[in-house]
Amino acid sequence: MQSSKLTQSLSFGLDIHTGSGDDLQTGCLEARRIRNETNRLDRQGWNWNEIKSVVVDNADHVNNTTQLIVDKALGEIETYHDNKDDGWGRPHPYIDESYPMVMNHGEGYRLFPEEDGTVRFRITATRGTHVKGDLRGSPDHFDRLQTAFNDKEWRVGTAEVVHKHNEWRLHVTVTHETHRVASKHNADTIVGLDVNEDCIALAAMSRSGAVKDSVVFEYPSVKEQRHEFFTKRKRMQKAGQTAFETVVKTEERDYVHDRLHKVSREVAEWISQFTDPVIVFEDLKDMRESIDYGTRMNRRLHSLPFAALQEMVSYKAAWEGVPSDVVDPEYTSQRCPRTECQHTDRANRQKKRFKCKRCGFQDHADRKAAVCVVQNWLDEQYGNVPSLETLPHVRTVRRAASGAGGGPDSHGHDLCSGVDRHGTSVQPGMGAREELKSVASAVQD
Ligand SMILES: [Zn+2]
Repeated sequence: MQSSKLTQSLSFGLDIHTGSGDDLQTGCLEARRIRNETNRLDRQGWNWNEIKSVVVDNADHVNNTTQLIVDKALGEIETYHDNKDDGWGRPHPYIDESYPMVMNHGEGYRLFPEEDGTVRFRITATRGTHVKGDLRGSPDHFDRLQTAFNDKEWRVGTAEVVHKHNEWRLHVTVTHETHRVASKHNADTIVGLDVNEDCIALAAMSRSGAVKDSVVFEYPSVKEQRHEFFTKRKRMQKAGQTAFETVVKTEERDYVHDRLHKVSREVAEWISQFTDPVIVFEDLKDMRESIDYGTRMNRRLHSLPFAALQEMVSYKAAWEGVPSDVVDPEYTSQRCPRTECQHTDRANRQKKRFKCKRCGFQDHADRKAAVCVVQNWLDEQYGNVPSLETLPHVRTVRRAASGAGGGPDSHGHDLCSGVDRHGTSVQPGMGAREELKSVASAVQD
């Protein structure tokens, strides 16, 4: 069975003390030149060993860094050859985008853990030019980095310098020496996740498109507490109490962090009941760039540490050998999941209720979105979506509000509401006016 080493990618901001962002920019431009040169020589029919030696000799990066950049570029070409029968194009030259500098620990870059918990970095931006300073990042990422320094089982691997959202960042990979994670290509169960401000919805489906099970974990207390913290902070800003404001900020972060850890534990546990699962998240990068999502999506992205929750889930799952993947989130919240219909309309969704304006299909909006995440993944992997007509009843699990650090551990849920909703039929309580409304909009389509 295919598998790979357990690898984590940690992201840090760079507080630069020696050298500058301009030096890093020069390094990334050189990386881009190396990448385009590799691409050009391949197109001219050079063999790959020749490309490597020529490009490395002429580059302004230390040899090891150039080799890694060439490898990354050749990897893109290989992916193209693997997929060209499906209509994939050749990698195009990078013109406006920058290309990441890829470096080996101890060669192109080096990290130095200090007694006080800070981590210094040194990056060789180009031959002979060093950029130095301190890393900045989340406590989780610093914890994992410390583990990689101290635990013999872990190793600090390659890192990439990237320029994102107007700042310079370092993405460091840490790898476990023995632990393996299954290949997503062997997955038997595809678990789609839809993360929201107040809940996370999961749908586990087979490759044939049948829903094996689904669940919605609600955490309204996180939303409520965040709003409370937010109001508190606003009040303090007005009163000019900046010291207290910082305390509240830390309190809020710890509270949310603690809650999200508990939720992610429940999620990972729920997933562990399936054989050979793969977890599929919506790609946050695509989410940010997608116009389709507009304000609702922006609100979601800023209202909850999505990246943190996704990471916690994928980290816990990786320890069980379960792989994770991301998919383009296009229309997951608006599209009707019935393969016969697939009507896509913003108006299909009204808060937590999804009702297809064309066929009348109804469901819990977030659970349905999780189903669409799986459908998008199957479509990306195999170019088709197996037929889906109905969905099973959705089960919701609600965490009652309790103080930070309270609540049971992963073995119990605070409250199992067991709410059953009729996923496929029109709700009995629905008024005639609403019925008429949906008929009217169906006619408009
Ligand atoms: Zn429909």
